[in-house]
Amino acid sequence: ERERLARLRHTPAVTLDGQKIELLANIEMPEDTTAAINAGAVGVGLFRSEFLFMGRQGNLPDEEEQYAAYRRAVDGMNGLPVTIRTVDVGADKPLDEARHDAAHLNPALGLRAIRWSLADPAMFLTQLRAVLRAAAHGQVNLLIPMLAHGSEIRQTMALIEQARQDLDCRGIAHGPVRLGAMIEIPAAALSLRLFLKYFDFLSIGTNDLIQYTLAIDRADESVAHLYDPLHPAVLRLITDTIVECNRQGKGVSVCGEMAGDVTMTRLLLGMGLRSFSMHPSQILSVKQQVLRSDTGKLAMWADQVLESDDPASCMTH
Ligand code: PEP
Ligand code: MG
Repeated sequence: ERERLARLRHTPAVTLDGQKIELLANIEMPEDTTAAINAGAVGVGLFRSEFLFMGRQGNLPDEEEQYAAYRRAVDGMNGLPVTIRTVDVGADKPLDEARHDAAHLNPALGLRAIRWSLADPAMFLTQLRAVLRAAAHGQVNLLIPMLAHGSEIRQTMALIEQARQDLDCRGIAHGPVRLGAMIEIPAAALSLRLFLKYFDFLSIGTNDLIQYTLAIDRADESVAHLYDPLHPAVLRLITDTIVECNRQGKGVSVCGEMAGDVTMTRLLLGMGLRSFSMHPSQILSVKQQVLRSDTGKLAMWADQVLESDDPASCMTH
């Protein structure tokens, strides 16, 4: 079976009815681009940059170190696009144990991701400059995690502009980026007009979207049985995001675990998704599902799943 899958590496991901599907890799370190290329990924859909920041006993990577890391990822993908997500650490993903502040009673609801970045603009600007510099060497998309508020979006846009001006003042080369937002808080999925006013593409983070929609701590074993990607409310938020982006001609992908789960591929295709980002080890299995799929038929079936009170019962299709 593994050999059969390996043969799909160079096969384009196209459905039976001729729809081209983009299969991208999630990476944590620049070296992971090797696995992404070996799996036939057509780009990096999510570079979780926080792994450069974690476990360092207090010091943070400076602009040069970050630039070198992003540049290595860009070079490693040989001209294919690389989506770099700004740092997603904070209360729920502590930088190191020493800094971990037990006073956060609800870490997942606390100062994490973009909230953490906006609380320390100098740190955030350092990262933005490093990403913009890497963009001079290849196709880079800049992805912002955990946005919910218009004010956060506007502050982020202003800081990106400032980072560009800082580089211009220093006479340092930088390149253009496509700007994307993670849709992983229900409020974001319910404010798509706001997001699409500012962003070129959206990436649905189902791991957090499920956690926040169902009020289930994704790290708490005692409620893991209630963590349900197929809850009708979760499916509604995902589908509305995909449909609205498709309608407006904006890019949309899913980069949470759902995108690499072969039992979900057909449903996501039926909802209109054409871009999936996942751990490199899942790409060939998902491609196998894509090659067997007819999106026209799946769209009709997905409509029924979305109308069902018990979507899980429809999944044996
Ligand atoms: C997600 O929330 O689905 C996601 C991709 O981000 P992370 O898992 O890094 O929070
Ligand atoms: Mg997330």
